[in-house]
Amino acid sequence: MQSRWNDIDAKAFEDAAIAAGQDPQLGLRVYTSRIVGADPDLVLHGGGNTSVKVTGADGEEIIHIKGSGWDLDTIEAPGLPAVKMAPLLAARDGDKLSDPDMVALLRANLLDPASPNPSVEALLHAFLPFRFVDHSHATAILALADQKDMGETVKRIYGDRLAFVPYVMPGFDLSIEADKVYRANTDCEGLWLENHGIFTFADTAKDSYDLMIEFVTMAEQELADKGAAPAGPQENDRHADEALLQRLENVLRGEGSPFTKTLYMDYRSTPAIRDYVSRTDVDDLSARGTVTPDHVIRIKPWPMIIGKDDSEQQIAVALAAYRERYEAYFRRNAARASEPKTILDTYPRVVVIRGEGMVALGATENAATIGGDLCEQATRAINAAESYGRFTPISEADLFDMEYWTLEQAKLKVAN
Ligand code: ZN
Repeated sequence: MQSRWNDIDAKAFEDAAIAAGQDPQLGLRVYTSRIVGADPDLVLHGGGNTSVKVTGADGEEIIHIKGSGWDLDTIEAPGLPAVKMAPLLAARDGDKLSDPDMVALLRANLLDPASPNPSVEALLHAFLPFRFVDHSHATAILALADQKDMGETVKRIYGDRLAFVPYVMPGFDLSIEADKVYRANTDCEGLWLENHGIFTFADTAKDSYDLMIEFVTMAEQELADKGAAPAGPQENDRHADEALLQRLENVLRGEGSPFTKTLYMDYRSTPAIRDYVSRTDVDDLSARGTVTPDHVIRIKPWPMIIGKDDSEQQIAVALAAYRERYEAYFRRNAARASEPKTILDTYPRVVVIRGEGMVALGATENAATIGGDLCEQATRAINAAESYGRFTPISEADLFDMEYWTLEQAKLKVAN
């Protein structure tokens, strides 16, 4: 992976921060957040997050952490709200917090109460004793992170440089677990989060960013050594069959559908997507889950699958089967939840057209585009994961916990 660091740009962001009366480190944080966000092989659409710890005007320690509703590639200083550090550190040694209580704690300690909600990974960032912390969901990392039992392999690739954190859903519990792993491995330069992504940290913006690029490059090398190098970002290079999309639309806009009023369809057919949708095991593979936990919020646990010559009636049968399967998934998992859950609409957000391509669905154009972008990256990661070993993302129960997480439901309302 190529570094996008440029001394002249870095200096310009530093100078702009000083001119605006901000800490120059915040300027550098904006800069490296943007170059992380500019690489679709590191993060996409609100994925990933970054932070910087600085000393406030009155000598108080504060952390600027990515706020919800901001994307890293276009972030500005207000997208990195400032939170007082001391109460966050106190939470580490206090009682277990529910995720809504954790959000309340973060909000209560914002310097500017009008700021957006700090990332749900804010405590994890706060606990790490480094000025800069970077977190990404890089394609090559996901191809390896979504394999079973990777602890020994991560050790072989990275030695003691990355410490392995077994899967825990993002939120308070992950912050505590990641902190425990860090404290047991204080010489490490980053954390490997099973089924999720990596964190890097250092006391300068450049060092933390450089580690991210280096660690992702090492993952790319591991995959390449096994003949499983992921393809890079690819353009859509084939047109949709408009008649098929029309038949699909007719079915999807039926009564009771979330798309009755508006339906945007984002058709993608890249070489990687065609490899994926042409696999004989695409039904099994696509049923396993999403490449990183937060994708389930946008694209549901699995796609609906249709054939390229399917009639409207055949598509209607596929939709009915999808909805039935989704309801069963909800019933199975809601039964073990500690609080009552309300089922979301049971329609797919992605449709696989065998041998041809994928269509991301949204009630807004933005939602459909985001879905399409996630599919584009996910298929590259999954193809590589399958070439390397076996694509094994989080379990159905973990997908459900993420999809029906109160905080994520709230985040989605803000995002759209
Ligand atoms: Zn993450």
